Amino acid sequence: MRLSKAFIPTQKEIPADATIPSHQLMLRAGLMRQLTAGVYAFLPLGYNAMMKAMNIVREEMNAIGGQEFLLPALNPESLWVQTGRRNVQNFILSIKERDLVLAPTHEEVIGWIASMHIQSYKDLPQIWYQIQTKFRNEPRPRSGVLRGRQFIMKDSYTLDASWEGLDKGYDLHAEAYNKIFTRCGLKFFVVGASSGAMGGTGSQEFMVESGSGEDTVVLCDKCGYAANLEIATSAISGVTRTANSKALEEIHTPNVKTIDELATFLNVDHDHLAKSVVYRHNGKPVLVLMAGNDQLNESKFSAALGGGEVAPMNAEELLGLTGADGGSIGPINLKGFRIIADKRLEGANGLISGANKNDYHIANIDMNRDVTVEEYFDLRIVDTGELCPKCSAQLKITHAIELGHIFKLGTKYADALHATYLDENGQSKPIIMGSYGIGIERIIACHLEQSHDDKGIIWNTALAPYQAHVIAINMNNKDIVLHSNQIYRTLTESGIDTLFDDRPNVTAGFKFNDADLLGMPFQIIVGEKGLKNNQVEVKRRKTGERTMVALSEIIPTIKKLLSE
Ligand code: ATP
Ligand code: MG
Repeated sequence: MRLSKAFIPTQKEIPADATIPSHQLMLRAGLMRQLTAGVYAFLPLGYNAMMKAMNIVREEMNAIGGQEFLLPALNPESLWVQTGRRNVQNFILSIKERDLVLAPTHEEVIGWIASMHIQSYKDLPQIWYQIQTKFRNEPRPRSGVLRGRQFIMKDSYTLDASWEGLDKGYDLHAEAYNKIFTRCGLKFFVVGASSGAMGGTGSQEFMVESGSGEDTVVLCDKCGYAANLEIATSAISGVTRTANSKALEEIHTPNVKTIDELATFLNVDHDHLAKSVVYRHNGKPVLVLMAGNDQLNESKFSAALGGGEVAPMNAEELLGLTGADGGSIGPINLKGFRIIADKRLEGANGLISGANKNDYHIANIDMNRDVTVEEYFDLRIVDTGELCPKCSAQLKITHAIELGHIFKLGTKYADALHATYLDENGQSKPIIMGSYGIGIERIIACHLEQSHDDKGIIWNTALAPYQAHVIAINMNNKDIVLHSNQIYRTLTESGIDTLFDDRPNVTAGFKFNDADLLGMPFQIIVGEKGLKNNQVEVKRRKTGERTMVALSEIIPTIKKLLSE
């Protein structure tokens, strides 16, 4: 591609709302433009890189036996009502006047096809995938293409007759994902993730560590334990139990609102303060007891309740139900609430909690004697400084971007959509499904997050829109024009995607800056001095390393560099 003809609108100014490197670089290098919040137009250079990523994804999906579909983004609303996902929060964008929705994912359509055409166990297993546009009602699109309202996803689905089959399909995807992200040159890691509201049995996320990431992950450098904060655990001891439980005692605690104030006021350790958190689950009141300053992990909480609608109870409702404010709620003499508690409180005594009366607390609570706990769960958020649940080394908590997600769904969607098959005994069974996603834009954005400097992008050869960038430093020099054209032609004919800066009346300095900003792996600089010795300069963008190469050696040299 000749830069004199190409549409690559590079820009110097960075819009103020582009705060992360990948977003800034994608704008500066002319890869994309924002049409409206969370919606991006990919320009030729950006789409070129996306296609490189999509080809890698496609090759690896085909390698595990995936069959490529193209499913419609427009879906009848009724299909989503059938699976109960029509009203999932921040999920679906809809076209009201036609009862259509824009699909945020495709379990529903896959289930619909399977329900019509999968008849017997002999039709299984299947791996179906597509690379297609998704729409999501993201409330806060931000960080450029990392969180869009429209984006391209590779989504695949395994259909199996057995749980072992599901495990196999899941493992095949894990392997394929490892290959895909390795080929894309990304530094990534895999974490255990929440199966959450999707109602599955196993789930892993492929992550890139980044300050720009919205996910928080817990890592152990020693044994490799890695989990999304949503499900992470740590080695932390339970709250102690003493031999004798004293009688319950009401204590006056005027104007004491927080756990810290209470600890100071009573001069007790935080762990013996049982903090009450109040929610509604499917409309019904639930009291959750946590030890001291432990924070409730809403993902764990929601999973413990088996999904459904979970919402914090507001102060007014709480006052109406208990006669007390949030800081004075506790498990003693509380009517009409289910009570669940964090595992750390199991069997503890000598606890202090709210008295359901403002300015009063109750002391000497014995969990075994005084509280009817429905069940104890691990409900806490792992905190910095805590130790690994596997090897007791210090855990690290860091931010990450989710690149991909693999997920054992089970039969939830097959049940809802009546996607069944007949087993060996002629019995009708629901198809066991898995679902697996990769965000294509996130591959590009993560690469740019990991591979840039203050001059611009540093593409790796796998994702680079062009491998080589020929720079004719002066188009008024006949020799340079002649040779740079010839080099461009032979590189292209050798199958090396090449960008050629043949712009007249653009200074050498300007061209060098643009080449560094656009970031193709190798620059071939054609100048007067070199040509005197029948040489050009080859610059490696990543290291800035420069070597003089004879005209006759350009093709083999570039080929050799590209194969490294
Ligand atoms: P997140 O937690 O970041 O919202 P998700 O759990 O909703 O992601 P999935 O439904 O598992 O994501 O989708 C599969 C993949 O699609 C994700 O791993 C991610 O790479 C990509 N993806 C999801 N939402 C977006 C989005 N709003 N913009 C760009 N890519 C996205
Ligand atoms: Mg999401």
